[in-house]
Amino acid sequence: MQEKIVIALGGNALGNNPEEQKEAVRNTAINIVDLIEAGYQVIISHGNGPQVGMINLAMDTASKINKDIPEMPFAECGAMSQGYIGFHLQNALQNELRKRGLSIPVVTIVTQVLVGKNDPAFQHPTKPVGAFYTEAEASEMRAKGFVMKEDAGRGYRRVVPSPEPIEIVEIEPIKMLVSAGHIVIAVGGGGIPVVDKGESLQGISAVIDKDLSSAKLAGQLDAGTLLILTAVEKVAIAYGKPEQQWLDRLTIKEAEKYMEDGEFAEGSMLPKIKAALAFTGSKAGRKTLITSLDKAVEALQGKTGTWIIP
Ligand code: ADP
Ligand code: MG
Repeated sequence: MQEKIVIALGGNALGNNPEEQKEAVRNTAINIVDLIEAGYQVIISHGNGPQVGMINLAMDTASKINKDIPEMPFAECGAMSQGYIGFHLQNALQNELRKRGLSIPVVTIVTQVLVGKNDPAFQHPTKPVGAFYTEAEASEMRAKGFVMKEDAGRGYRRVVPSPEPIEIVEIEPIKMLVSAGHIVIAVGGGGIPVVDKGESLQGISAVIDKDLSSAKLAGQLDAGTLLILTAVEKVAIAYGKPEQQWLDRLTIKEAEKYMEDGEFAEGSMLPKIKAALAFTGSKAGRKTLITSLDKAVEALQGKTGTWIIP
């Protein structure tokens, strides 16, 4: 049986606009198909920061200018970003597979992720999204129930909370497709956050960290490895300082200590380490690898990257 790996793609695998993204995914697909040819079964998740930002900003701007254009809720913007990124990834993977004479179906699942109604993050929204507003516009938005914050002297922006993922709603169809041998792209952008209202699940304005959701996905699929692909080949301590030290391996204990010491930047490396701890620590035999896209095959062979092990 092939080893299952969940690959969490970072921003550099996708680029910032449609043209860049189409170009970037061609290279991403080459690296992913290399992994498939090396014998791994892959499940793919990805970030969506710039993409959902672009969609949200476009919709906000349009409805500010033209009142006939409705305000687009943030959850719907997230869904659009999953479709848009999924399309590009799907297309690029299919083309690369075809080029190599491989016939494996590729599919994207629009994925909702359940978060807790009472997650403490709802008390402290932190992620700025969408357009900039004047002070007067910001008070209007506040009256509609949005949380608005001044953003570094550039104007006011909406901020949304970043709650923890609890459960992947579409996990059963994802499992079925994976066991049928299909390449599945899921949980894009960390998933569309929904809360359980008893009668129904309801999309909400929030952002779930894609690394944490990917750890959840890897756990629920019983993958052997969570592979987090980002812009750096390894994790460092004293990152960016003269005494910087790249790490080959990190035990859970070491990672926890470095985390306490503030070695991992919030919003970038910290969520990856948290995801690694959650996945590696969840069951014997599970491990997490953090490396760059172009080093993925080598790193899986143990030649580079940072392994987070029990
Ligand atoms: P992604 O889009 O892949 O999630 P992020 O920018 O969120 O990428 O996180 C990866 C970045 O984290 C790296 O490019 C690096 O600049 C930064 N970083 C912060 N702390 C560290 C660290 N201790 N070791 C390595 N990289 C770090
Ligand atoms: Mg990130």
